[in-house]
Amino acid sequence: MKILVLNTGSSSVKYRLFDDDVVAAKGLVEKIGEDGGDAPDHEGALRRIMDSVDVDGLGAIGHRVVHGGADFADATVIDDAVVATIERLVPLAPLHNPPALAGIRVARKLLPDVPQVAVFDTAFHQSIPAEGVHWAIDTELAERWQIRRYGFHGTSHAYVSRQTAALLGRPVEQTNVITLHLGNGASACAVRAGRSVATSMGMSPQGGLVMGTRSGDIDPTVVFHLHRVAGMPIEDIERSLTRGAGLLGLSGVNDMRTLLQRRDDGDERAALAFDVYCRRVREYVGAYLAVLGRTDAITFTGGVGENSAPVREAVLAGLAPLGIDLDEQRNADRAKVISRDDSPITACVVPTDEELEIATQTRAALGG
Ligand code: ADP
Repeated sequence: MKILVLNTGSSSVKYRLFDDDVVAAKGLVEKIGEDGGDAPDHEGALRRIMDSVDVDGLGAIGHRVVHGGADFADATVIDDAVVATIERLVPLAPLHNPPALAGIRVARKLLPDVPQVAVFDTAFHQSIPAEGVHWAIDTELAERWQIRRYGFHGTSHAYVSRQTAALLGRPVEQTNVITLHLGNGASACAVRAGRSVATSMGMSPQGGLVMGTRSGDIDPTVVFHLHRVAGMPIEDIERSLTRGAGLLGLSGVNDMRTLLQRRDDGDERAALAFDVYCRRVREYVGAYLAVLGRTDAITFTGGVGENSAPVREAVLAGLAPLGIDLDEQRNADRAKVISRDDSPITACVVPTDEELEIATQTRAALGG
């Protein structure tokens, strides 16, 4: 089946056309609405894509949608009610859901006869048990304002955990994996028998691990203190914690490659940022080993996870007493398996492919 995957952001649309699992076309329309951009608006962007790819015989369109709230536990065929629900979830993802909605509306208008499917970043984590979902805050407030853990990067964690089971030659239903998606955004996930049972991001993609420009977990008092004592308006605090924190906040650079370069050149702030980043991932590995009990594999993915041997080493070195026996040479060589043959827990590197997973889930949602 031919499937077009659309990832519609506020100023760009990434697309990939699959013919079964083969990529037939891909591209990016960017700087939407900007001077000299590729398109004046999302409708223009999608028209451009439909003109440039061969949509003849298209079987479906799969849309990436960031936030599915507590409403979607699976990829879902889009109808008016689904659009209305995604719309209702906008307050939970004010930056991400509106462009996805624009993409869905325009695609339905331009190709009304092609089935469309929404694939949510949150859906995979709907299997997390209640004790991993709720924070210990006032229940009435939490319920009224939909405050809970949703988790993100679900498409990536789903894909990578399945690929890991395949790499181990085990059925998914009998495989427990900790997946570490380390890119610009970063999150950890504990997957038991193919289902997410814990993840590090929370109500938004801001929680958990240290990221390029996001703080990850912090004591909530940081926010009160910056407001009450430092006198910062709430918008400025939000901007600082989401766009001026993480590796950037600690070191002045958000790109891991540049950071590693600076660390090698003796930059102390870069060295500290690296240590804080890796320490946090390591803490989550320890936590998720305890959540899973028996763990078969730990898998690194994302730009940093797939490419940075120093990060993988700092995260897993010295954990042989916990069953993870890293092989430094394999790690440096970026082998698929980076632990020793007799390591009880297999450490792996598996490239993620969110677009392929969206296509797979789109097909599955349509019964194919
Ligand atoms: P996104 O989350 O936007 O999809 P990626 O998954 O591509 O981003 O991850 C981007 C990050 O991966 C950047 O911090 C980049 O520096 C890092 N990265 C890419 N290649 C390497 C490398 N060889 N060594 C270390 N970090 C790398």
